[in-house]
Amino acid sequence: MDSTDSIYEQVGAARIINAGGTKTRLGGPRMRAAAADAIREAATECAHVSTLQAAASDQLQALTGAEAGHVTSGASAALTLATAACICGADYGRMAALPNSTDGPFEVIIPRTLRNTYDHAFRAAGATIVDVGHCDFSLGQETSNVEPWELADAITEHTVAIGYIPNPIADISLETVVDIAHDHDVPVIVDGAGNLPPTANLIRYVDTGADLVAFSGGKAIRGPQGTGLLIGRAELIESAARQHLDMAINRTVWQPESGRALPDRPPGVPRHGIGRGFKVSREEIVGLLVALEEFVEEDDAAVQAEWYERLESIETRIADHPAVEATISPDPPVDPAAAAYRGEVLPSLSVRLTDPSISETAVIRALQAADPPIYVNTRAIEERAFAISPIALTDAEATVVADTLLGILQDHAS
Ligand SMILES: *Cc1c(COP(=O)(O)O)cnc(C)c1O
Repeated sequence: MDSTDSIYEQVGAARIINAGGTKTRLGGPRMRAAAADAIREAATECAHVSTLQAAASDQLQALTGAEAGHVTSGASAALTLATAACICGADYGRMAALPNSTDGPFEVIIPRTLRNTYDHAFRAAGATIVDVGHCDFSLGQETSNVEPWELADAITEHTVAIGYIPNPIADISLETVVDIAHDHDVPVIVDGAGNLPPTANLIRYVDTGADLVAFSGGKAIRGPQGTGLLIGRAELIESAARQHLDMAINRTVWQPESGRALPDRPPGVPRHGIGRGFKVSREEIVGLLVALEEFVEEDDAAVQAEWYERLESIETRIADHPAVEATISPDPPVDPAAAAYRGEVLPSLSVRLTDPSISETAVIRALQAADPPIYVNTRAIEERAFAISPIALTDAEATVVADTLLGILQDHAS
């Protein structure tokens, strides 16, 4: 072990350059220094986790306008806890039975076009997903993917929630979904995990009437990568908290957290809930809160300008190379104050290989084999392109990415 090595090398893994963005697989972006400092400090003292979560709830209320909030181990865990809260409410018997949930309502309705790999997060709580709509619009039809009446029709006595992701492909607005759900006394769970910035989205979904909203703490908030947020209605947050927190306590001395709604005289202490395995440490709670405070103070336009400059520095270095075509999008930048989605605020640099003798796979593999390894977004690989995200890069790393790419193109030129 050499102490001049990075901490990752000291434990036997490579430090990488993350040009792929907020991806969990790539470890996400850099944590804010203030959050890392707070974690170091929190590690040296003890705190009661329930009290800390209650304090976090107050802060989240102040920052987002939601009635309450809870720190989770990522947005995916927040979706599982949200689903558990919608299935169980204040019913300790149902909490204890999860993920077995068939002795009461257990269905979550999700528009078909929004189904994705995080379905698992809903199902992990014991829910069954009910699909509505089609992919008509996406297939070029003139109809929409989900008609409001279809969503209303799908709600039955088995329904516990409607799941929604605010995304351009949704094809039905959150306003409409909330109206339909609330007409039927059903809550709406929003997966806003990847929708920051714009910072305004922290407030927007609750403002629109969503009952529970999940965000990632380790994406643009740049808190601990393994954290997330659940914000929303107080009694649902309290249900989520009771299914998440450690409940191994004598009932004669248990005090539910102050300020949290659920029956005044609970029937006792619930058992450890479905969320017990999604533990969040006291250091992580503190780290996320400090990161979030800094995030909400940030000027979206200034951060966006930094991202564009970083990508332009790469574009300028590689633009003249005949084997590639580099384009930054969106171009021109979208005003963050008017933006609804992260993709409008966070730009990326697409690098397309135009020389047929150079394989895109070979270039991506060579980047991954570089020292340090460089990881890019490979989503457009079928179009012989890859993308570079600025969010996890330093300016110095951006230069390394450009120069390494030029070296690889040189090596692969026929
Ligand atoms: C990233 C992401 C998640 C998962 O978030 P974690 O904080 O990594 O658990 C869920 N849904 C969407 C849409 C995401 O982009």
